[in-house]
Amino acid sequence: MANETGSSHFIDDIIQDDARSGKHGGRVATRFPPEPNGYLHIGHAKSICLNFGMASTYTGTCNLRFDDTNPAKEDIEYVDSIMEDVRWLGFDWEQRLFYASDYFERLYEQAVALIRLDKAYVCDLTGDQVSEFRGNFHKPGRNSPFRDRTVDENLDLFARMRVGEFADGARTLRAKIDMASPNMNMRDPPMYRIKRSHHHRTGDTWCIYPMYDFAHCFSDAFEGITHSLCTLEFEDHRALYDWFLAQVEFPHRPQQIEFARLALTYTVLSKRKLLELVTTGLVDGWDDPRMPTISGYRRRGYTPESIRNFAERIGVARRDGLIDVALLEHAIREDLEPKAARVMGVLDPLKVVLTNLPEGEIVWLDAPFHPENPEMGSRRVPLTRELWIEQDDFREEPPKKFFRLAPGREVRLRYGCLITCNELVKDADGKVIELRCTWDPDSKGGNAPDGRKVKGTLHWVSASHGVQAEVRLYDRLFRSENPADDKDGGDWKNGLNPESLQVLPVCYVEPSLADAAPGGRFQFERLGYFCADKDARPGKPVFNRTVALRDSWAKAEAKE
Ligand code: ATP
Ligand code: MG
Repeated sequence: MANETGSSHFIDDIIQDDARSGKHGGRVATRFPPEPNGYLHIGHAKSICLNFGMASTYTGTCNLRFDDTNPAKEDIEYVDSIMEDVRWLGFDWEQRLFYASDYFERLYEQAVALIRLDKAYVCDLTGDQVSEFRGNFHKPGRNSPFRDRTVDENLDLFARMRVGEFADGARTLRAKIDMASPNMNMRDPPMYRIKRSHHHRTGDTWCIYPMYDFAHCFSDAFEGITHSLCTLEFEDHRALYDWFLAQVEFPHRPQQIEFARLALTYTVLSKRKLLELVTTGLVDGWDDPRMPTISGYRRRGYTPESIRNFAERIGVARRDGLIDVALLEHAIREDLEPKAARVMGVLDPLKVVLTNLPEGEIVWLDAPFHPENPEMGSRRVPLTRELWIEQDDFREEPPKKFFRLAPGREVRLRYGCLITCNELVKDADGKVIELRCTWDPDSKGGNAPDGRKVKGTLHWVSASHGVQAEVRLYDRLFRSENPADDKDGGDWKNGLNPESLQVLPVCYVEPSLADAAPGGRFQFERLGYFCADKDARPGKPVFNRTVALRDSWAKAEAKE
Protein backbone atom coordinates (compact mmCIF):
# COMPACT_ATOMS: atom_id res chain seq x y z
CA MET A 1 0.00 0.00 0.00
CA ALA A 2 1.19 3.48 -0.74
CA ASN A 3 2.29 5.64 2.20
CA GLU A 4 1.78 9.42 2.53
CA THR A 5 4.45 10.19 -0.04
CA GLY A 6 2.65 8.00 -2.56
CA SER A 7 5.44 5.43 -2.68
CA SER A 8 4.88 1.81 -1.87
CA HIS A 9 8.21 0.26 -0.83
CA PHE A 10 11.83 1.14 -0.08
CA ILE A 11 12.97 0.90 -3.71
CA ASP A 12 10.14 3.17 -4.72
CA ASP A 13 11.32 5.60 -2.02
CA ILE A 14 14.88 5.57 -3.33
CA ILE A 15 13.82 6.06 -6.94
CA GLN A 16 11.38 8.79 -5.99
CA ASP A 17 14.07 10.64 -4.05
CA ASP A 18 16.52 10.29 -6.92
CA ALA A 19 13.98 11.50 -9.44
CA ARG A 20 13.27 14.54 -7.23
CA SER A 21 16.90 15.37 -6.48
CA GLY A 22 17.87 15.09 -10.12
CA LYS A 23 20.35 12.28 -9.54
CA HIS A 24 20.89 10.43 -12.85
CA GLY A 25 19.56 13.60 -14.49
CA GLY A 26 16.13 12.74 -13.14
CA ARG A 27 15.99 9.70 -15.43
CA VAL A 28 14.73 6.28 -14.39
CA ALA A 29 16.03 3.37 -16.44
CA THR A 30 15.73 -0.20 -15.19
CA ARG A 31 16.25 -3.61 -16.79
CA PHE A 32 15.13 -7.16 -16.34
CA PRO A 33 18.19 -9.36 -16.91
CA PRO A 34 17.28 -13.07 -17.13
CA GLU A 35 19.84 -15.69 -17.91
CA PRO A 36 18.34 -17.82 -20.71
CA ASN A 37 19.01 -21.10 -18.91
CA GLY A 38 15.46 -21.99 -17.92
CA TYR A 39 11.87 -20.81 -18.03
CA LEU A 40 10.74 -17.86 -15.95
CA HIS A 41 9.02 -18.56 -12.65
CA ILE A 42 6.88 -16.60 -10.22
CA GLY A 43 10.01 -15.17 -8.55
CA HIS A 44 11.06 -13.68 -11.86
CA ALA A 45 7.55 -12.30 -12.21
CA LYS A 46 8.14 -10.34 -9.02
CA SER A 47 11.32 -8.88 -10.49
CA ILE A 48 9.61 -8.15 -13.84
CA CYS A 49 6.73 -6.35 -12.12
CA LEU A 50 9.18 -4.36 -10.02
CA ASN A 51 11.47 -3.32 -12.88
CA PHE A 52 8.78 -2.55 -15.45
CA GLY A 53 6.53 -1.14 -12.73
CA MET A 54 9.12 1.39 -11.48
CA ALA A 55 9.88 2.44 -15.05
CA SER A 56 6.23 3.03 -15.73
CA THR A 57 5.56 4.85 -12.45
CA TYR A 58 8.39 7.29 -13.12
CA THR A 59 7.88 7.50 -16.90
CA GLY A 60 11.20 5.84 -17.41
CA THR A 61 12.23 2.83 -19.44
CA CYS A 62 12.82 -0.83 -18.71
CA ASN A 63 15.06 -2.95 -20.94
CA LEU A 64 14.89 -6.67 -21.46
CA ARG A 65 18.46 -7.91 -21.40
CA PHE A 66 19.47 -11.51 -21.79
CA ASP A 67 22.36 -12.13 -19.50
CA ASP A 68 23.88 -14.73 -21.80
CA THR A 69 27.49 -14.88 -20.69
CA ASN A 70 27.51 -18.57 -19.79
CA PRO A 71 27.13 -20.45 -23.08
CA ALA A 72 27.08 -23.97 -21.64
CA LYS A 73 23.57 -23.90 -20.20
CA GLU A 74 21.86 -21.42 -22.44
CA ASP A 75 19.46 -22.06 -25.24
CA ILE A 76 17.30 -20.25 -27.78
CA GLU A 77 14.22 -22.12 -26.52
CA TYR A 78 14.65 -20.28 -23.23
CA VAL A 79 15.11 -16.94 -24.96
CA ASP A 80 11.83 -17.39 -26.83
CA SER A 81 9.89 -18.57 -23.80
CA ILE A 82 11.18 -15.65 -21.71
CA MET A 83 10.02 -13.10 -24.28
CA GLU A 84 6.64 -14.78 -24.54
CA ASP A 85 6.22 -14.81 -20.76
CA VAL A 86 7.22 -11.17 -20.22
CA ARG A 87 4.78 -10.09 -22.94
CA TRP A 88 2.05 -12.30 -21.52
CA LEU A 89 2.53 -10.68 -18.12
CA GLY A 90 1.64 -7.45 -19.87
CA PHE A 91 4.99 -5.70 -20.19
CA ASP A 92 6.63 -4.14 -23.21
CA TRP A 93 10.34 -3.54 -23.68
CA GLU A 94 9.52 -1.78 -26.99
CA GLN A 95 12.70 -1.72 -29.09
CA ARG A 96 14.94 -2.20 -26.05
CA LEU A 97 15.85 -5.85 -26.37
CA PHE A 98 19.51 -6.47 -25.52
CA TYR A 99 21.88 -9.37 -25.10
CA ALA A 100 25.00 -9.26 -22.94
CA SER A 101 26.63 -11.24 -25.76
CA ASP A 102 26.16 -8.20 -28.03
CA TYR A 103 28.60 -6.45 -25.70
CA PHE A 104 31.36 -9.06 -25.87
CA GLU A 105 33.56 -6.78 -27.97
CA ARG A 106 32.92 -3.74 -25.80
CA LEU A 107 33.48 -5.76 -22.65
CA TYR A 108 36.75 -6.99 -24.06
CA GLU A 109 37.77 -3.36 -24.63
CA GLN A 110 36.86 -2.49 -21.03
CA ALA A 111 39.01 -5.36 -19.84
CA VAL A 112 41.92 -4.10 -21.93
CA ALA A 113 41.36 -0.63 -20.47
CA LEU A 114 41.57 -2.09 -16.96
CA ILE A 115 44.80 -3.91 -17.85
CA ARG A 116 46.25 -0.64 -19.16
CA LEU A 117 45.40 0.98 -15.82
CA ASP A 118 47.22 -1.91 -14.11
CA LYS A 119 43.88 -2.90 -12.54
CA ALA A 120 43.71 -6.36 -14.10
CA TYR A 121 46.19 -9.15 -14.73
CA VAL A 122 46.44 -12.53 -16.36
CA CYS A 123 46.84 -15.24 -13.75
CA ASP A 124 48.12 -18.76 -14.43
CA LEU A 125 47.00 -20.34 -11.15
CA THR A 126 44.69 -23.33 -11.51
CA GLY A 127 41.17 -23.17 -10.13
CA ASP A 128 42.22 -25.08 -7.01
CA GLN A 129 45.19 -22.83 -6.45
CA VAL A 130 43.04 -19.74 -6.85
CA SER A 131 40.72 -21.01 -4.11
CA GLU A 132 43.65 -21.84 -1.89
CA PHE A 133 45.21 -18.40 -2.37
CA ARG A 134 41.90 -16.70 -1.67
CA GLY A 135 41.93 -17.52 2.04
CA ASN A 136 38.63 -17.44 3.87
CA PHE A 137 36.56 -15.25 6.19
CA HIS A 138 39.11 -15.63 8.97
CA LYS A 139 42.22 -15.67 6.88
CA PRO A 140 43.37 -13.04 4.40
CA GLY A 141 44.28 -14.25 0.94
CA ARG A 142 47.75 -14.26 -0.59
CA ASN A 143 48.78 -12.48 -3.73
CA SER A 144 49.03 -14.57 -6.84
CA PRO A 145 52.64 -14.95 -8.03
CA PHE A 146 51.40 -13.57 -11.38
CA ARG A 147 49.96 -10.41 -9.88
CA ASP A 148 52.94 -8.24 -10.72
CA ARG A 149 53.12 -8.96 -14.41
CA THR A 150 53.77 -5.85 -16.44
CA VAL A 151 50.98 -4.14 -18.31
CA ASP A 152 52.57 -5.13 -21.62
CA GLU A 153 52.85 -8.76 -20.64
CA ASN A 154 49.21 -8.77 -19.51
CA LEU A 155 48.06 -7.15 -22.74
CA ASP A 156 49.95 -9.73 -24.73
CA LEU A 157 48.66 -12.71 -22.72
CA PHE A 158 45.08 -11.49 -22.73
CA ALA A 159 45.15 -11.04 -26.52
CA ARG A 160 46.52 -14.58 -26.82
CA MET A 161 43.79 -15.89 -24.51
CA ARG A 162 41.31 -14.43 -26.93
CA VAL A 163 42.76 -16.05 -30.03
CA GLY A 164 42.78 -19.44 -28.41
CA GLU A 165 46.46 -20.05 -27.67
CA PHE A 166 45.77 -21.55 -24.23
CA ALA A 167 43.79 -24.50 -23.00
CA ASP A 168 40.44 -24.13 -21.25
CA GLY A 169 40.99 -23.11 -17.64
CA ALA A 170 44.73 -22.55 -18.13
CA ARG A 171 44.56 -18.83 -17.38
CA THR A 172 42.13 -16.23 -16.14
CA LEU A 173 42.00 -12.49 -16.25
CA ARG A 174 41.58 -11.15 -12.74
CA ALA A 175 40.81 -7.75 -11.29
CA LYS A 176 43.65 -6.40 -9.18
CA ILE A 177 41.93 -5.23 -6.01
CA ASP A 178 42.87 -6.48 -2.56
CA MET A 179 43.66 -10.03 -1.48
CA ALA A 180 43.20 -9.06 2.17
CA SER A 181 39.77 -7.47 1.76
CA PRO A 182 37.24 -8.64 4.33
CA ASN A 183 34.84 -8.91 1.37
CA MET A 184 35.79 -12.12 -0.42
CA ASN A 185 34.37 -10.78 -3.69
CA MET A 186 37.10 -8.14 -3.70
CA ARG A 187 39.98 -10.63 -3.50
CA ASP A 188 41.08 -10.29 -7.11
CA PRO A 189 37.93 -11.80 -8.64
CA PRO A 190 38.07 -13.39 -12.09
CA MET A 191 36.88 -11.28 -15.02
CA TYR A 192 37.42 -13.72 -17.88
CA ARG A 193 37.86 -17.45 -18.20
CA ILE A 194 38.88 -19.59 -21.15
CA LYS A 195 36.13 -21.94 -22.22
CA ARG A 196 35.63 -23.40 -25.67
CA SER A 197 31.91 -23.58 -25.77
CA HIS A 198 29.48 -22.87 -28.58
CA HIS A 199 27.35 -19.83 -27.80
CA HIS A 200 23.75 -19.70 -29.02
CA ARG A 201 24.33 -16.26 -30.53
CA THR A 202 28.05 -15.71 -31.04
CA GLY A 203 28.77 -19.26 -32.16
CA ASP A 204 32.48 -20.08 -31.89
CA THR A 205 33.71 -16.50 -32.19
CA TRP A 206 34.84 -16.44 -28.59
CA CYS A 207 36.76 -18.88 -26.44
CA ILE A 208 36.95 -16.49 -23.50
CA TYR A 209 33.80 -15.47 -21.69
CA PRO A 210 33.31 -12.65 -19.18
CA MET A 211 32.21 -13.43 -15.63
CA TYR A 212 28.86 -12.21 -14.36
CA ASP A 213 30.16 -9.53 -11.97
CA PHE A 214 32.30 -7.93 -14.63
CA ALA A 215 29.76 -8.19 -17.44
CA HIS A 216 26.72 -7.09 -15.50
CA CYS A 217 27.82 -3.70 -14.23
CA PHE A 218 29.27 -2.70 -17.59
CA SER A 219 26.16 -3.89 -19.44
CA ASP A 220 24.13 -1.68 -17.10
CA ALA A 221 26.46 1.23 -17.80
CA PHE A 222 26.36 0.71 -21.59
CA GLU A 223 22.58 0.87 -21.50
CA GLY A 224 22.44 3.91 -19.25
CA ILE A 225 20.64 2.01 -16.51
CA THR A 226 20.04 4.18 -13.45
CA HIS A 227 18.75 1.65 -10.90
CA SER A 228 20.03 -1.90 -11.21
CA LEU A 229 17.64 -3.92 -9.07
CA CYS A 230 18.79 -7.38 -8.07
CA THR A 231 18.22 -9.95 -5.37
CA LEU A 232 19.93 -10.04 -1.99
CA GLU A 233 22.58 -12.61 -2.81
CA PHE A 234 24.33 -9.81 -4.72
CA GLU A 235 24.56 -7.52 -1.70
CA ASP A 236 28.19 -8.47 -1.11
CA HIS A 237 28.91 -8.01 -4.79
CA ARG A 238 27.86 -4.37 -4.77
CA ALA A 239 31.34 -3.22 -3.74
CA LEU A 240 32.73 -4.97 -6.79
CA TYR A 241 30.01 -3.56 -9.04
CA ASP A 242 30.98 -0.07 -7.89
CA TRP A 243 34.71 -0.77 -8.07
CA PHE A 244 34.59 -1.82 -11.73
CA LEU A 245 32.61 1.23 -12.75
CA ALA A 246 34.80 3.56 -10.69
CA GLN A 247 37.88 2.62 -12.72
CA VAL A 248 36.58 4.04 -15.97
CA GLU A 249 34.84 7.22 -17.03
CA PHE A 250 31.18 6.77 -17.88
CA PRO A 251 28.62 9.49 -18.44
CA HIS A 252 26.31 7.74 -15.96
CA ARG A 253 27.01 5.44 -13.10
CA PRO A 254 24.21 2.94 -12.38
CA GLN A 255 23.36 2.10 -8.80
CA GLN A 256 22.75 -1.45 -7.61
CA ILE A 257 19.90 -1.97 -5.12
CA GLU A 258 19.12 -5.36 -3.62
CA PHE A 259 15.73 -6.72 -2.60
CA ALA A 260 14.47 -10.00 -1.15
CA ARG A 261 13.98 -12.94 -3.46
CA LEU A 262 10.45 -14.33 -3.48
CA ALA A 263 10.10 -17.66 -1.69
CA LEU A 264 6.68 -19.35 -1.64
CA THR A 265 5.40 -22.08 0.65
CA TYR A 266 5.15 -25.59 -0.87
CA THR A 267 7.11 -24.33 -3.87
CA VAL A 268 10.62 -24.69 -5.24
CA LEU A 269 11.93 -21.70 -7.21
CA SER A 270 15.45 -22.81 -8.01
CA LYS A 271 15.98 -23.01 -11.77
CA ARG A 272 18.37 -25.91 -11.28
CA LYS A 273 15.72 -27.90 -9.43
CA LEU A 274 12.93 -26.99 -11.83
CA LEU A 275 15.14 -28.12 -14.71
CA GLU A 276 15.76 -31.39 -12.91
CA LEU A 277 12.01 -31.97 -12.53
CA VAL A 278 11.64 -31.46 -16.28
CA THR A 279 14.60 -33.57 -17.41
CA THR A 280 13.78 -36.47 -15.09
CA GLY A 281 10.15 -36.45 -16.28
CA LEU A 282 8.78 -35.91 -12.78
CA VAL A 283 6.60 -33.22 -14.33
CA ASP A 284 5.24 -32.93 -17.84
CA GLY A 285 7.56 -30.16 -19.08
CA TRP A 286 8.20 -26.57 -18.06
CA ASP A 287 4.54 -25.73 -18.58
CA ASP A 288 3.18 -28.54 -16.43
CA PRO A 289 0.32 -26.82 -14.58
CA ARG A 290 1.92 -27.81 -11.26
CA MET A 291 5.11 -25.92 -12.05
CA PRO A 292 5.65 -22.47 -10.52
CA THR A 293 6.73 -21.24 -13.94
CA ILE A 294 4.87 -18.47 -15.74
CA SER A 295 4.07 -20.96 -18.52
CA GLY A 296 2.83 -23.47 -15.94
CA TYR A 297 0.57 -20.91 -14.29
CA ARG A 298 -0.69 -19.80 -17.70
CA ARG A 299 -1.61 -23.37 -18.62
CA ARG A 300 -3.18 -23.82 -15.21
CA GLY A 301 -5.48 -20.88 -15.92
CA TYR A 302 -3.85 -18.03 -14.00
CA THR A 303 -4.28 -14.59 -15.52
CA PRO A 304 -1.53 -11.98 -15.95
CA GLU A 305 -3.60 -9.61 -13.80
CA SER A 306 -3.69 -12.09 -10.92
CA ILE A 307 0.08 -12.48 -10.97
CA ARG A 308 0.63 -8.73 -11.17
CA ASN A 309 -1.79 -8.17 -8.29
CA PHE A 310 0.00 -10.79 -6.25
CA ALA A 311 3.36 -9.12 -6.92
CA GLU A 312 1.88 -5.79 -5.90
CA ARG A 313 0.45 -7.21 -2.71
CA ILE A 314 3.59 -8.97 -1.50
CA GLY A 315 5.55 -5.77 -2.00
CA VAL A 316 9.31 -5.54 -1.96
CA ALA A 317 11.25 -6.27 1.20
CA ARG A 318 14.85 -5.87 2.24
CA ARG A 319 14.99 -9.21 4.00
CA ASP A 320 14.04 -12.68 2.82
CA GLY A 321 10.76 -14.16 3.96
CA LEU A 322 8.43 -16.95 2.99
CA ILE A 323 5.13 -15.97 1.35
CA ASP A 324 2.05 -18.13 1.80
CA VAL A 325 1.10 -19.68 -1.55
CA ALA A 326 -2.54 -19.26 -0.44
CA LEU A 327 -2.09 -15.55 -1.16
CA LEU A 328 -1.34 -16.32 -4.81
CA GLU A 329 -4.37 -18.61 -4.94
CA HIS A 330 -6.44 -15.84 -3.41
CA ALA A 331 -5.25 -13.44 -6.13
CA ILE A 332 -6.42 -15.72 -8.92
CA ARG A 333 -9.82 -16.31 -7.33
CA GLU A 334 -10.26 -12.62 -6.81
CA ASP A 335 -9.46 -11.93 -10.46
CA LEU A 336 -11.61 -14.70 -11.93
CA GLU A 337 -14.63 -14.18 -9.70
CA PRO A 338 -16.10 -11.29 -11.74
CA LYS A 339 -14.76 -12.52 -15.09
CA ALA A 340 -15.22 -16.26 -15.38
CA ALA A 341 -18.39 -17.63 -16.96
CA ARG A 342 -20.34 -19.96 -14.69
CA VAL A 343 -20.90 -23.34 -16.30
CA MET A 344 -21.70 -26.85 -15.14
CA GLY A 345 -19.56 -29.94 -15.18
CA VAL A 346 -19.81 -33.21 -13.26
CA LEU A 347 -16.51 -34.74 -12.21
CA ASP A 348 -17.65 -37.98 -10.57
CA PRO A 349 -20.88 -38.85 -12.41
CA LEU A 350 -23.93 -40.65 -11.04
CA LYS A 351 -26.85 -41.30 -13.42
CA VAL A 352 -30.26 -39.76 -12.70
CA VAL A 353 -33.32 -40.79 -14.74
CA LEU A 354 -36.35 -38.47 -14.71
CA THR A 355 -39.06 -41.08 -15.14
CA ASN A 356 -41.75 -38.52 -16.00
CA LEU A 357 -39.75 -36.83 -18.77
CA PRO A 358 -40.16 -38.86 -21.96
CA GLU A 359 -37.12 -39.93 -23.90
CA GLY A 360 -36.26 -37.48 -26.68
CA GLU A 361 -37.97 -34.57 -24.98
CA ILE A 362 -35.80 -31.58 -24.22
CA VAL A 363 -36.66 -28.79 -21.81
CA TRP A 364 -34.44 -25.82 -22.68
CA LEU A 365 -33.51 -23.70 -19.70
CA ASP A 366 -31.98 -20.28 -19.76
CA ALA A 367 -28.83 -20.04 -17.66
CA PRO A 368 -26.98 -16.72 -17.21
CA PHE A 369 -23.20 -16.93 -17.45
CA HIS A 370 -22.71 -14.77 -14.38
CA PRO A 371 -25.08 -14.04 -11.51
CA GLU A 372 -23.96 -10.38 -11.16
CA ASN A 373 -22.91 -9.60 -14.71
CA PRO A 374 -25.93 -9.78 -16.99
CA GLU A 375 -23.82 -8.32 -19.81
CA MET A 376 -21.99 -11.66 -19.95
CA GLY A 377 -25.20 -13.09 -21.41
CA SER A 378 -26.66 -16.54 -21.03
CA ARG A 379 -26.92 -19.88 -22.79
CA ARG A 380 -29.59 -22.52 -23.00
CA VAL A 381 -28.96 -25.78 -21.16
CA PRO A 382 -30.97 -28.88 -22.04
CA LEU A 383 -32.84 -30.78 -19.35
CA THR A 384 -33.38 -34.33 -20.59
CA ARG A 385 -34.59 -37.65 -19.24
CA GLU A 386 -31.11 -38.83 -18.30
CA LEU A 387 -28.75 -36.62 -16.35
CA TRP A 388 -25.48 -36.77 -14.49
CA ILE A 389 -25.08 -35.45 -10.99
CA GLU A 390 -22.09 -35.70 -8.65
CA GLN A 391 -21.74 -38.98 -6.68
CA ASP A 392 -21.00 -36.83 -3.68
CA ASP A 393 -24.37 -35.12 -3.92
CA PHE A 394 -26.22 -38.29 -3.06
CA ARG A 395 -26.28 -40.36 0.14
CA GLU A 396 -28.42 -43.40 0.66
CA GLU A 397 -28.29 -42.71 4.37
CA PRO A 398 -27.78 -38.97 4.67
CA PRO A 399 -26.05 -37.73 7.80
CA LYS A 400 -27.44 -34.73 9.71
CA LYS A 401 -27.08 -31.45 7.82
CA PHE A 402 -26.71 -33.22 4.49
CA PHE A 403 -29.20 -31.27 2.37
CA ARG A 404 -28.46 -32.84 -0.99
CA LEU A 405 -30.17 -35.81 -2.60
CA ALA A 406 -31.29 -38.92 -0.67
CA PRO A 407 -34.14 -41.39 -1.03
CA GLY A 408 -37.47 -39.53 -0.82
CA ARG A 409 -35.74 -36.12 -0.83
CA GLU A 410 -36.42 -33.19 -3.08
CA VAL A 411 -33.60 -30.94 -4.35
CA ARG A 412 -33.19 -28.19 -6.91
CA LEU A 413 -31.25 -28.65 -10.12
CA ARG A 414 -29.36 -25.44 -10.82
CA TYR A 415 -31.23 -23.28 -13.41
CA GLY A 416 -33.62 -26.18 -13.75
CA CYS A 417 -36.37 -27.51 -11.58
CA LEU A 418 -37.09 -29.51 -8.47
CA ILE A 419 -36.60 -33.25 -8.56
CA THR A 420 -37.52 -35.96 -6.05
CA CYS A 421 -35.64 -39.22 -5.66
CA ASN A 422 -38.06 -42.14 -5.65
CA GLU A 423 -36.04 -45.24 -6.33
CA LEU A 424 -32.45 -46.54 -6.35
CA VAL A 425 -30.95 -48.96 -8.85
CA LYS A 426 -28.00 -50.97 -7.53
CA ASP A 427 -25.43 -53.21 -9.18
CA ALA A 428 -24.63 -56.77 -8.07
CA ASP A 429 -22.33 -55.42 -5.32
CA GLY A 430 -25.06 -53.23 -3.90
CA LYS A 431 -23.53 -50.02 -5.20
CA VAL A 432 -26.04 -47.36 -6.25
CA ILE A 433 -25.65 -46.86 -10.01
CA GLU A 434 -28.77 -44.94 -10.88
CA LEU A 435 -31.36 -42.74 -9.19
CA ARG A 436 -34.89 -42.79 -10.54
CA CYS A 437 -36.48 -39.43 -9.88
CA THR A 438 -39.41 -37.33 -11.00
CA TRP A 439 -39.28 -33.67 -11.87
CA ASP A 440 -41.96 -31.12 -11.08
CA PRO A 441 -42.75 -29.37 -14.39
CA ASP A 442 -44.31 -26.47 -12.46
CA SER A 443 -40.93 -25.73 -10.87
CA LYS A 444 -39.25 -24.92 -14.18
CA GLY A 445 -36.60 -22.27 -13.51
CA GLY A 446 -35.97 -23.53 -10.00
CA ASN A 447 -38.87 -22.90 -7.64
CA ALA A 448 -42.25 -24.47 -7.03
CA PRO A 449 -45.29 -22.17 -7.33
CA ASP A 450 -46.46 -23.23 -3.87
CA GLY A 451 -43.24 -21.84 -2.44
CA ARG A 452 -42.21 -25.07 -0.67
CA LYS A 453 -38.72 -24.93 0.75
CA VAL A 454 -35.91 -26.95 -0.85
CA LYS A 455 -32.48 -26.60 0.68
CA GLY A 456 -30.05 -28.28 -1.69
CA THR A 457 -29.12 -27.07 -5.16
CA LEU A 458 -27.06 -29.41 -7.34
CA HIS A 459 -25.11 -28.87 -10.54
CA TRP A 460 -25.85 -31.37 -13.29
CA VAL A 461 -25.32 -32.18 -16.96
CA SER A 462 -27.65 -33.76 -19.51
CA ALA A 463 -26.46 -37.30 -20.26
CA SER A 464 -27.65 -37.21 -23.88
CA HIS A 465 -26.36 -33.70 -24.67
CA GLY A 466 -23.43 -33.33 -22.31
CA VAL A 467 -19.88 -33.79 -23.52
CA GLN A 468 -17.40 -36.24 -22.10
CA ALA A 469 -14.28 -34.48 -20.85
CA GLU A 470 -11.07 -35.20 -19.03
CA VAL A 471 -10.47 -33.13 -15.93
CA ARG A 472 -7.15 -32.76 -14.14
CA LEU A 473 -7.08 -31.75 -10.50
CA TYR A 474 -3.92 -30.45 -8.92
CA ASP A 475 -2.54 -30.31 -5.46
CA ARG A 476 0.70 -28.74 -4.24
CA LEU A 477 3.80 -30.16 -5.89
CA PHE A 478 5.62 -30.45 -2.55
CA ARG A 479 4.39 -31.79 0.75
CA SER A 480 6.48 -29.62 2.97
CA GLU A 481 5.82 -25.98 3.59
CA ASN A 482 9.41 -25.05 2.94
CA PRO A 483 10.82 -27.58 0.46
CA ALA A 484 13.85 -25.38 -0.25
CA ASP A 485 14.98 -25.94 3.29
CA ASP A 486 16.23 -29.55 2.83
CA LYS A 487 18.05 -29.69 6.15
CA ASP A 488 17.84 -33.47 6.43
CA GLY A 489 20.36 -33.67 3.59
CA GLY A 490 18.22 -36.17 1.70
CA ASP A 491 17.16 -35.87 -1.91
CA TRP A 492 14.92 -32.81 -2.19
CA LYS A 493 12.80 -34.74 -4.69
CA ASN A 494 11.64 -37.01 -1.85
CA GLY A 495 9.53 -34.07 -0.76
CA LEU A 496 7.36 -34.25 -3.89
CA ASN A 497 3.67 -34.78 -3.25
CA PRO A 498 2.72 -38.09 -4.93
CA GLU A 499 -0.87 -36.86 -5.15
CA SER A 500 -0.18 -33.58 -6.89
CA LEU A 501 -2.00 -34.70 -10.05
CA GLN A 502 -5.32 -36.50 -10.23
CA VAL A 503 -6.66 -37.28 -13.70
CA LEU A 504 -10.41 -37.85 -14.01
CA PRO A 505 -10.84 -39.38 -17.49
CA VAL A 506 -14.63 -39.58 -17.53
CA CYS A 507 -16.32 -36.36 -16.56
CA TYR A 508 -19.24 -34.62 -18.25
CA VAL A 509 -19.57 -30.97 -19.08
CA GLU A 510 -22.48 -29.00 -20.48
CA PRO A 511 -22.73 -28.79 -24.29
CA SER A 512 -21.59 -25.14 -24.41
CA LEU A 513 -18.10 -26.36 -23.47
CA ALA A 514 -17.71 -28.84 -26.34
CA ASP A 515 -15.38 -26.57 -28.27
CA ALA A 516 -13.85 -24.57 -25.44
CA ALA A 517 -10.68 -23.05 -26.88
CA PRO A 518 -7.48 -23.88 -25.00
CA GLY A 519 -6.88 -21.16 -22.46
CA GLY A 520 -10.60 -20.51 -21.94
CA ARG A 521 -11.38 -19.97 -18.25
CA PHE A 522 -14.60 -20.93 -16.46
CA GLN A 523 -16.04 -21.43 -13.08
CA PHE A 524 -17.56 -24.90 -12.84
CA GLU A 525 -20.30 -24.21 -10.37
CA ARG A 526 -19.51 -25.46 -6.87
CA LEU A 527 -16.20 -27.03 -8.02
CA GLY A 528 -13.75 -24.25 -8.72
CA TYR A 529 -12.15 -22.40 -11.60
CA PHE A 530 -11.06 -24.41 -14.63
CA CYS A 531 -9.09 -23.73 -17.76
CA ALA A 532 -9.37 -25.57 -21.09
CA ASP A 533 -6.11 -27.35 -21.87
CA LYS A 534 -4.19 -27.66 -25.13
CA ASP A 535 -4.38 -31.48 -24.86
CA ALA A 536 -8.05 -31.40 -25.97
CA ARG A 537 -8.94 -33.73 -28.85
CA PRO A 538 -11.92 -33.22 -31.16
CA GLY A 539 -15.04 -33.93 -29.13
CA LYS A 540 -13.03 -34.48 -25.94
CA PRO A 541 -12.13 -31.32 -24.11
CA VAL A 542 -9.60 -31.37 -21.29
CA PHE A 543 -9.83 -29.02 -18.32
CA ASN A 544 -7.31 -28.12 -15.66
CA ARG A 545 -8.58 -27.02 -12.30
CA THR A 546 -6.92 -23.67 -11.70
CA VAL A 547 -8.01 -23.46 -8.09
CA ALA A 548 -10.86 -24.71 -5.91
CA LEU A 549 -13.44 -22.23 -4.64
CA ARG A 550 -12.62 -22.35 -0.94
CA ASP A 551 -10.35 -19.48 -0.10
CA SER A 552 -8.25 -20.17 2.97
CA TRP A 553 -6.55 -16.78 2.66
CA ALA A 554 -9.79 -14.78 2.62
CA LYS A 555 -10.93 -16.84 5.60
CA ALA A 556 -7.74 -16.11 7.53
CA GLU A 557 -8.04 -12.42 6.70
CA ALA A 558 -11.65 -12.31 7.87
CA LYS A 559 -10.63 -13.82 11.24
CA GLU A 560 -8.07 -11.12 11.92
P1 ATP B 1 20.44 -18.33 -11.62
O1 ATP B 1 20.87 -19.11 -10.44
O2 ATP B 1 20.34 -19.14 -12.88
O3 ATP B 1 21.15 -17.01 -11.79
P2 ATP B 1 18.16 -16.72 -11.07
O4 ATP B 1 16.91 -17.21 -10.46
O5 ATP B 1 18.93 -15.64 -10.41
O6 ATP B 1 18.97 -18.02 -11.29
P3 ATP B 1 18.17 -15.10 -13.43
O7 ATP B 1 17.76 -15.47 -14.80
O8 ATP B 1 19.56 -14.68 -13.22
O9 ATP B 1 17.81 -16.32 -12.54
O10 ATP B 1 17.17 -14.01 -12.87
C1 ATP B 1 16.78 -12.86 -13.57
C2 ATP B 1 16.34 -11.81 -12.59
O11 ATP B 1 15.27 -12.28 -11.81
C3 ATP B 1 17.47 -11.44 -11.65
O12 ATP B 1 17.49 -10.04 -11.51
C4 ATP B 1 17.08 -12.11 -10.37
O13 ATP B 1 17.58 -11.40 -9.27
C5 ATP B 1 15.56 -12.10 -10.44
N1 ATP B 1 15.02 -13.21 -9.66
C6 ATP B 1 15.31 -14.52 -9.79
N2 ATP B 1 14.68 -15.27 -8.87
C7 ATP B 1 13.93 -14.41 -8.15
C8 ATP B 1 13.04 -14.55 -7.04
N3 ATP B 1 12.79 -15.75 -6.49
N4 ATP B 1 12.45 -13.45 -6.55
C9 ATP B 1 12.70 -12.24 -7.09
N5 ATP B 1 13.52 -12.04 -8.12
C10 ATP B 1 14.14 -13.10 -8.65
MG1 MG C 1 20.91 -14.90 -11.53
